[in-house]
Amino acid sequence: RAAEARFIANNPLSKAQHDLAVGTLPGGNTRTVLHTSPFPLSMKQGRGAYVWDLDGHKYLDFVGELSAGLLGHSHPVIHKTFLSTFDTVGLSLGATTVHEHAYAALLSARFRLARVRMANTGTEANLHALAGARHFTGRRKVVVFSGGYHGAVLSFPDGKAAPNTVDRGDFVVVPRYNDLQLAREVIESVEKDLAAVLVEPMQGAGGCIPGTREFLVGVRDAAHRQGALFILDEVMTSRLAPGGLGVEMGLEPDMVTLGKYLGGGLAFGAFGGRDDVMAVYDPRVEGSLAHSGTFNNNTMAMCVGYAALSEVYKPEVNVAFNERGNRFREKLREVTKGTRLSITGRGSLLGLHFTEDGMEEITCGEDLKGKERRDLRDLFWFEMLEAGFWTTRRGYIAMILETPDEELDAFLAAVKAFLGRHRD
Ligand code: PLP
Repeated sequence: RAAEARFIANNPLSKAQHDLAVGTLPGGNTRTVLHTSPFPLSMKQGRGAYVWDLDGHKYLDFVGELSAGLLGHSHPVIHKTFLSTFDTVGLSLGATTVHEHAYAALLSARFRLARVRMANTGTEANLHALAGARHFTGRRKVVVFSGGYHGAVLSFPDGKAAPNTVDRGDFVVVPRYNDLQLAREVIESVEKDLAAVLVEPMQGAGGCIPGTREFLVGVRDAAHRQGALFILDEVMTSRLAPGGLGVEMGLEPDMVTLGKYLGGGLAFGAFGGRDDVMAVYDPRVEGSLAHSGTFNNNTMAMCVGYAALSEVYKPEVNVAFNERGNRFREKLREVTKGTRLSITGRGSLLGLHFTEDGMEEITCGEDLKGKERRDLRDLFWFEMLEAGFWTTRRGYIAMILETPDEELDAFLAAVKAFLGRHRD
């Protein structure tokens, strides 16, 4: 209560902005994930690894635009490419361009996809991949996992399709992630109507919970035994290894979906995979599937995305950055050992979980059921803001490339101090 009162007192301009916004936007909001009680902070500017709110506070940005902001704010390469594309190419040209081919070729090589198509978001990429899989197999059902998040209208919390999920009845949800036996049973139960299994190699929105190789390979093989496709959602995880986790872990998926930072900060999505599967989208073929989208090949995202991947987030940068993330997580684990705070994740993505007794291992969201300490989670958020760290309320951290080492050390100290202050 005291922390919330300080938050209200410290942020009068964010509060006033929220009071105004609720008059037009339901709840003052246009992205549910960004809503926080009693009101969200309104950000004014970002630069490098920092953001500033309306009331003038400066924060280290640990939200990292939910992983899409990997390159940070106003990266010089992005800045230069954005302006030069605008000046020399222009916005969408209503035609195919060399830019979409150049970027598709780069994505194809990096993520080992025989063919690629572009979209505008990760949600769209998944919707198109599923449509393709259904067309290819002539089947409808899709197996997904509890805690899986594949986009705005493809969300499966608590073992169920969220109410806004499209074609809800066509999804069969495995009630636990990382449980191969259960996954096999569910996949086999769908029998002949299974078009695809859609899975994240690490559940992102579900709490940064990595999938084991045994689980993911087992799921792939079970899908194949049913004649279904294995689709890997790498919208969030493609940043964790130069070829994404699918290549890193040797998963050999039939299709892969991409998005987030691959637009260099602009709206982006892509999907690709096996030649024969992606051929369902070849307009030269009679009976092929249409894949439309006015902005699919918009020149800004194609050129800025290309620059982000070829000039900034090169394979060696990717590896070094994620090793840095691993070292940071290990230090956080040391600081939090034996406390109520458990740390999950991989590379540059981290999950923070407050539970009653603390947990050594978290393999799926169900492990946390009934054990979470949301009061501590919320208090942590308020107090980290006061210490100058902009994190997500739910405890998800997406590191930004330029984050200085001393900020990581300062965060470790702030976490240690928090845990010392709040032992109950
Ligand atoms: N898939 C995963 C694994 C995601 O984490 C997200 C976004 O958080 C999406 C898909 C949806 O991407 P977008 O928000 O660009 O639609």
